[in-house]
Amino acid sequence: MDSLRLRDVQARVDAYISQFEEGYFDPPTLVNRLCEELGELAREVSHRFGPKKKKPGEAEGEMELEIGDLLFVLVCLSNSQGYDMDDIFRRTMEKYETRDKDRWTRKRPAP
Ligand SMILES: [Mg+2]
Repeated sequence: MDSLRLRDVQARVDAYISQFEEGYFDPPTLVNRLCEELGELAREVSHRFGPKKKKPGEAEGEMELEIGDLLFVLVCLSNSQGYDMDDIFRRTMEKYETRDKDRWTRKRPAP
């Protein structure tokens, strides 16, 4: 699992943000931005899978782009706090792989 490249993602975002005097927003602002982007993703999911379709002529958004926006803001929040996202991801997977290892029905091996 050492091939994960979240650190590269973090470095690219940092190179982008470092071009600007403003730098990273403060954590409350970044969390607000996360909520905004999550709302945009929710809207796309709702239109794609729910009963409330878009109005005629309303542009079809892309779920992938909204997921990307969420990732970007999460990386900004992590970078602003000096967090290592490879370490965050490793710790998160260890949690799921131990705590939830017997929670779901495992697929049977092929005969
Ligand atoms: Mg967005």
